[in-house]
Amino acid sequence: QAKESGKGRYALFDREMYAQTLYLSQLETDLRFALARQQFILHYQPIIALATGDIVGFEALIRWQDPERGLVSPREFIKIAEDTGLIVLIGEWVLNEACRQLRAWQLKFSNASQYHISVNLASQQIKQPSLITIVERILKDTELDSNFLKLEITESTLMEEKETIMENFAQIKARNIKLSIDDFGTGYSSLSYLHSFPLDTLKIDRSFVSRMNANQENCEIVRTIINLAHSLGIDAIAEGVETPYQLEQLRKLGCKFAQGYLFAQPLDTQAVELLIASNPKW
Ligand code: C2E
Ligand code: MG
Ligand code: MG
Ligand code: MG
Repeated sequence: QAKESGKGRYALFDREMYAQTLYLSQLETDLRFALARQQFILHYQPIIALATGDIVGFEALIRWQDPERGLVSPREFIKIAEDTGLIVLIGEWVLNEACRQLRAWQLKFSNASQYHISVNLASQQIKQPSLITIVERILKDTELDSNFLKLEITESTLMEEKETIMENFAQIKARNIKLSIDDFGTGYSSLSYLHSFPLDTLKIDRSFVSRMNANQENCEIVRTIINLAHSLGIDAIAEGVETPYQLEQLRKLGCKFAQGYLFAQPLDTQAVELLIASNPKW
């Protein structure tokens, strides 16, 4: 009997594997068409300066508007887009759309004239030799000043192929484009390793911010990251701020920028325009 139930378990496992494989290959096929069919959209989440409570910019976050699946989160398709190499073309679309949209807002709203846009780059993009050519063409086409573009690279990506990444970083910095390290605290990079990169900001991973409750120990971790950023001469941005308590602690710890549901969720363009027009102060 034991043998039988064991067999049954394997059969079930195989069926699940099979369903998963089918799901992924269908997802890949659909993703291939999504660009051509203009099914991607960007949502934008405001980034706030804690000293003034003003919006200083937005992070562009991709979504996939699939006719059957509805609005699909990047968590469900970025990995497969990376595995298939599709991320390079999708990423180029994101860069262009984000720059175009920010330029439009800068022209439309006087309080948006100094906003920046943060764009997430996949590991394949930051290693792409043609990255700077692509970025320059996009900035020219969209008439966005390079100053207002910030590229986000995760800490784990920074740990790969340093030489290749460094070459692109140098080209990026030479054009005054900003660089931010995303999801910081999860990748075990050392102070000296970080110091060798020309970074402008560091984003404290949401996992650390969300654990900042009454627990003093977790606040200490965030304090350490903020101090690390400051000792590198760069600013820290806290991701995933959800509660007034977290905000209060972050202010006390001298964190200069924050982003999270407490201020706003990632918003569609219409909602962003209402937000900018209301010129909020937090
Ligand atoms: P990320 O770059 O770390 O972006 C922050 C994520 O945290 C976003 O999830 C955002 O919606 C979410 N978030 C923001 N504030 C809060 C909060 O207060 N609480 C909680 N629980 N979550 C919050 P999203 O939009 O689902 O994006 C997930 C990830 O997908 C991003 O993480 C980024 O790694 C990737 N991604 C998104 N757009 C792009 C893109 O255009 N290109 C690439 N390569 N990756 C992207
Ligand atoms: Mg990001
Ligand atoms: Mg992040
Ligand atoms: Mg994150």
